[in-house]
Parts: sequence; structure tokens; C-alpha cells
Amino acid sequence: MKITFATANLGKLREAGEILGEGWELLSSKEAGVTEDIPENGQTLQENSLAKAEYLYKATGLDCFADDTGLEVDMLDGAPGVHTARYAGGAGHDFQANMDKLLQEMALKEHLAAGNGEPAPSRTARFHSIVTLVLSGEIHFFEGTLEGLIARQKAGCGGFGYDPVFIPFSIPDKDGILVPNTRRLTLAEIPEEDKNAISHRGSALRAMAAFLQGK
Ligand code: IMP
Repeated sequence: MKITFATANLGKLREAGEILGEGWELLSSKEAGVTEDIPENGQTLQENSLAKAEYLYKATGLDCFADDTGLEVDMLDGAPGVHTARYAGGAGHDFQANMDKLLQEMALKEHLAAGNGEPAPSRTARFHSIVTLVLSGEIHFFEGTLEGLIARQKAGCGGFGYDPVFIPFSIPDKDGILVPNTRRLTLAEIPEEDKNAISHRGSALRAMAAFLQGK
């Protein structure tokens, strides 16, 4: 069966293909004939995820899904959240500038807390993904999160986005069992398959795959 993913990112397409498994012919939005950028103007991750999936469904009439992800940092009251891709401004996807801005905002918060004699604020954060599936015209949502801490400085060169500053609480060991991340490795310092096994997007896509298998 054919299903289209509202992405032009080949890495995401490959990851989704591996998670969906056999029986699905997975197309990118470009392969389904949508070459323009799909608008993302929502106020929440769910609105953006839904808008992308609906846009693709209206354009192609094919079963499809879209994802939207945000990084929620507790000491910043959930920012950058829906603004994650464009946190440092500009057209977005300037990963270095986005991480620099995040580390600066967090340093400022810590500085203010210290100045007020308050305890250091927590560096806890999570990636949060919402996947919207349009199947035979019906809409279904799936969610995934990855909990961790924001590092004080970037480390590692794998992955993309905020991976060099995100330290997941748990990572898979050599047998694939989740263990505490005692070495405080960032997502950019662990193998791609380990990241996919724990990632927010992976969890949301696995929930969608389980739903589709039950159909
Ligand atoms: P999108 O909704 O998947 O396009 O993600 C929005 C933004 O979140 C991206 O531009 C990245 O900056 C960030 N992001 C999403 N997923 C990841 C991830 O797995 N690691 C690091 N950053 C991510």
C-alpha cells in the first residue's frame, strides 16, 4: 500500500521506511507531486503537523502522514517549542545559531537566578513529536517524547538540529536494553540506530506503525 510522508528530508524518509517495515511503499511529498514548501504557520506542534498532513492529502488524495517536532526546555517555560526550527530567526534550520541562542538564553536564566540567590534552574528538556496520519480521509494523531538535559556545550558531530546539546537520560546498551546515560553522551555522540531506537519521532512513528498493522 502507498503512503506519503510530508517531508523532503531523505534521512527522515529512510527512518520512517525502516519503522513501517514491509508492505508499505513510502513516498516523499516530492515523489507524490508536491514540490513546494508546505506552510507551517500554526501556534502548536499539533496544528502544524495537522496542517502539513491535510495540505498533502488535499494535493494528492493519497493516504499520508506528517510530523512536527519541538524542543521544550523547562527553565525557558517550554521554549523554543513550536519555534524550534527558527529559534535564532532567519529562514530557520541554522542549527549552530539555534543552539547558540539556546545556550545563551539558558546561561542568562542561570545568571539571573544566581543574582537573586535562587537555586540553579533545572536543565531538563524534551523533544516532543506529533505525527498526523490521514488514512482514507480520517485523521489520527500519534505522539512521542524523549526526555533529557541540555548540555552546557555542544559535543559530537552526528545527527542534526539540537543533537549536539541534548543528553538523553537513557540510551540503549550493546544488547539494545535501555540503561542510564552515565557518560552524559549527547545525541550527536551515539550511533544513528541508537538514536532512532529512543527518539521522539521514532516513538511516534512506531505508534503509527502499530496502528497501521492492526488495520
Ligand atoms: P521538524 O518538525 O521535524 O522539522 O523539526 C523542527 C526542528 O526541531 C528541526 O529544525 C530541528 O532543529 C529540531 N529537531 C527535530 N528533531 C530533532 C532531532 O531528532 N534532533 C535534534 N533536533 C531535532
